[in-house]
Amino acid sequence: MSQPPAGLWEALQASSSKPRPKSHLLSSFPNAIADVSDSTDSETTNQYDLLCPREGCGSVILKKGVARLKERESLQIEPSDIPAHPLLPALPSSSESIHWWLVTPSPMEFENIGFSRPVESLSLSPSGKKLKLLACAECDLGPLGWSEEGGNEFWLVCSRVGYRSD
Ligand SMILES: [Zn+2]
Repeated sequence: MSQPPAGLWEALQASSSKPRPKSHLLSSFPNAIADVSDSTDSETTNQYDLLCPREGCGSVILKKGVARLKERESLQIEPSDIPAHPLLPALPSSSESIHWWLVTPSPMEFENIGFSRPVESLSLSPSGKKLKLLACAECDLGPLGWSEEGGNEFWLVCSRVGYRSD
């Protein structure tokens, strides 16, 4: 068995002891969405950095002020062959409106985000395109949201991301 390169263990230790941003779930805020959004006359943006909701990950997904708050119909983003992750709240049926963070116009707006390939087993988007799913780029937790194949809008579920509120 070959030895690991010198210095490897120190590097791992340094990275595991690095403080991770603490991720607060939307459900932990008394006024829910009002506590994590910032409104001006024209639009409402995310008041805090958006993080991976998994404790111990906390990867920064998006900087504060980058996304706009939108209310629109829910969408089926769980592929039917993959069970929903227990950390991710279930989404209501598509006749109900939910809160989303809308990110435009390109994936460059994100700090870290993972994309799936277009998912064949999901319904098409409201405008008839195949969906791509968004996940944490570090630990693959998802789906946290969706975009259309070739689209320039990226929709994150407000209840499926964490908030860096301290
Ligand atoms: Zn993560």
